[in-house]
Amino acid sequence: MKYSPRLDELLRTAESVCVLTGAGVSAESGVATFRGPDGLWAKLKPEELANFDAFLRNPELVWEWYAYRKKVIHEVSPNAAHIALAEMESIVRDFTLVTQNIDNLHLRAGSKRVLELHGNIERSYCTACGRFDNTVTVTEDRRVPRCSQCGGLMRPDVVWFGEMLPQEEFDQAEEAAGRCELFLSIGTSAVVYPAAGIPLRARSSGAYVVEVNTEHTDISPRVNESLVGPAATIVPALLARMKELRKGTP
Ligand code: NAD
Ligand code: ZN
Repeated sequence: MKYSPRLDELLRTAESVCVLTGAGVSAESGVATFRGPDGLWAKLKPEELANFDAFLRNPELVWEWYAYRKKVIHEVSPNAAHIALAEMESIVRDFTLVTQNIDNLHLRAGSKRVLELHGNIERSYCTACGRFDNTVTVTEDRRVPRCSQCGGLMRPDVVWFGEMLPQEEFDQAEEAAGRCELFLSIGTSAVVYPAAGIPLRARSSGAYVVEVNTEHTDISPRVNESLVGPAATIVPALLARMKELRKGTP
């Protein structure tokens, strides 16, 4: 793939890189995206499941859905895009990986520091006392997990519709977007705010913003460069180019 001279220059020199990933980065691992022709959205209505009222109304159903998603995630592996991003972290001095995914695949690929804006499906906490217990799951008889300390209802540590993003992670993501030289927006439809505003924040602070997606998105007209194609091909190629251009430099 041929990159613009500006992107090549940044792959060679950028000391500060920020990356935002969405469901598309995990698509080639076999985790369905929400949007797109065969997204989960088409079959189920996550808006009706992924919110606190739905959970209070029918915790069995919501837990069953998350247990299903967890099972799918356990059966898949990080792909070449996750792995390339983990390696990029060891090359770039100031590297920040921000994800909207809850699938834990970046950490499994070896990324050390990940800002998880929407939580992580592997964690759960008690809605009554706040205690974390990551071992809980639904039992065969569909009984919802209860807190072993207070008996409260446990919930997955994921951000549902209508809920706030974790403030500290979001602030750190915005800061990283504001100070980076190169920003990569990978596999995100860029429609779910406030995360979708992060690439625009980077652009307005002077970063060169590159989008990696199989199709054009709402922010395509506002980025500096769009690389159209699958993340598991494009991201490793970007890493390879970065390594080639930095060869011999300390
Ligand atoms: P989305 O599902 O809205 O959009 C996915 C984007 O990825 C689309 O623009 C699509 O064109 C692109 N895409 C699909 N396959 C790709 C590939 N192989 N390479 C590159 N791009 C590809 O995803 P989003 O913007 O992250 O949606 C936001 C919400 O959906 C978030 O809250 C996220 O937590 C949640 N979500 C997470 C997972 C997960 O954890 N893996 C899965 C589904 C949805
Ligand atoms: Zn409790």
